[in-house]
Amino acid sequence: MARLAQTAGLTDVQQEILSTVRDFVDKEIIPVATELEHRDEYPQQIVDGLKELGLFGLMIPEEYGGLGESLLTYALCVEEIARGWMSVSGIINTHFIVAYMLKQHGTQEQKEHFLPRMAAGDIRGAFSMSEPGLGSDVSAITSKAVKDGDEYVLNGQKMWLTNGGTSSLVAVLVRSDEGHSPEEAAAKPHKSMTTFLVEKEPGFGEVRPGLTIPGKIDKMGYKGVDTTELIMDGLRVPADRVLGGVTGRGFYQMMDGVEVGRVNVAARGCGVAQRAFELGVQYAQQRHTFGKPIAQHQAIQFKLAEMATKVEAAHAMMVNAARKKDSGERNDLEAGMAKYLASEYCKEVVEDAFRIHGGYGFSKEYEIERLYREAPMLLIGEGTAEIQKMIIGRRLLEEYRFQG
Ligand SMILES: Cc1cc2nc3c(=O)[nH]c(=O)nc-3n(C[C@H](O)[C@H](O)[C@H](O)COP(=O)(O)OP(=O)(O)OC[C@H]3O[C@@H](n4cnc5c(N)ncnc54)[C@H](O)[C@@H]3O)c2cc1C
Repeated sequence: MARLAQTAGLTDVQQEILSTVRDFVDKEIIPVATELEHRDEYPQQIVDGLKELGLFGLMIPEEYGGLGESLLTYALCVEEIARGWMSVSGIINTHFIVAYMLKQHGTQEQKEHFLPRMAAGDIRGAFSMSEPGLGSDVSAITSKAVKDGDEYVLNGQKMWLTNGGTSSLVAVLVRSDEGHSPEEAAAKPHKSMTTFLVEKEPGFGEVRPGLTIPGKIDKMGYKGVDTTELIMDGLRVPADRVLGGVTGRGFYQMMDGVEVGRVNVAARGCGVAQRAFELGVQYAQQRHTFGKPIAQHQAIQFKLAEMATKVEAAHAMMVNAARKKDSGERNDLEAGMAKYLASEYCKEVVEDAFRIHGGYGFSKEYEIERLYREAPMLLIGEGTAEIQKMIIGRRLLEEYRFQG
């Protein structure tokens, strides 16, 4: 049978990596995912397996001990992993964003200090922009850093850190209005933000003097992976832990990270949608009504046709966005479109698979129940649908400027 979501033009190395990951997903993730998710249990054994496969260093350059692979390879691996369990892709995603930001913007000393241990999965990354009062509007960040000798003192509260408890390195975006009057800082909020590389012990409670991770947020889905708050109360960070060594660049560094993160969320949408299709198409051939398998009713066949078309379209857009970034070109338009389309289609495909399951889709015994609770997260993470449409719309007006 021809499988959905094939990718043309992959190298032998890419094909080998993907087949290894797919095998791992089928054997080590799918059989245990739903049970672990219902218990909200951290998948330590799976994470250890991913470490062994080298997935934490997939895109980290070889000189720092990684595999030096492309964004496309990474996104295709994420798609496979999310097909098994979306939470596992969440465990590597923030790590990947922080490693990417270090690779692109870190000082030589910061790269040498963090990247080899990140490639081995011994240091794991989280990134933190959101606060209790803001998510979409990053320019409204209120957490603040003030210089004190060779250190900065950070105060404020952060919200929604994926891997906030299990990580040992958090890239935190705060205001640092150095060199700006309060009026200038208010007028140009993007230019007065800085990313700090904050090292900490994994775990909960006071994980470093001045830094508290209160506990896990109880979520409707996307369980297993920890999502937390982060409280900075007089947290002292050395000046050499400013990402790139210069203050005022944090907003742009974070947006660069989020842009590749969007391809990643699109890939997750593709993976979850593929799994929902697989579950729907299997169930439709097993369940009989009115004397035949429900797959033989045209209404159900049409549903399957729509689902498969959406899986193919989302995959194609995700691959296009990843390839554009790999070619060194700006990809914000393509990444925004891919993230928007893949997350919306994912929600629709999951809902159709749920409907195909009839009443059993509502039972916790069926995997689709988990997918139904997971898909909505993709509508929100790395920028909501409205934010993607704002990015897409702005770029379209740049490209199609009226010349009259
Ligand atoms: C499980 C989970 C994990 C997360 N992990 C992380 C993480 O690791 N790090 C991190 O920093 N953040 C993380 N987030 C936060 C996430 O990025 C934000 O939730 C998201 O950006 C939306 O922000 P918000 O929740 O504050 O919604 P708001 O910004 O308050 O938006 C509320 C609604 O208003 C809409 N809206 C907002 N502004 C506009 C506008 N100008 N025009 C039209 N509509 C608008 C939005 O689309 C949305 O529908 C996570 C969130 C969740 C749920």
